[in-house]
Amino acid sequence: MDHNDAVNSYAAESYLLGELDETEAEAFETHMFECPACAEQVKLGMELLDEAYKMLNNSERRMNSATAFTRRRFCRHPRRRKPR
Ligand SMILES: [Zn+2]
Repeated sequence: MDHNDAVNSYAAESYLLGELDETEAEAFETHMFECPACAEQVKLGMELLDEAYKMLNNSERRMNSATAFTRRRFCRHPRRRKPR
């Protein structure tokens, strides 16, 4: 996946929403950790989702099921622990 593919397929959005299958998620992650623009988009997207769900109140449980998978992947991704 290159950056244009990621943008054209809304990969970051789908990734955030947990809509990518395992293969697609891995392809996007491989690109994302090489691409500051996509990494930033995912980071901002997570923050936005946090805010949105906070405003929706009581939907916290739904958020957890919708994005927990993606968060776990993102936060535990080994590439993320590498020093810059
Ligand atoms: Zn990119």
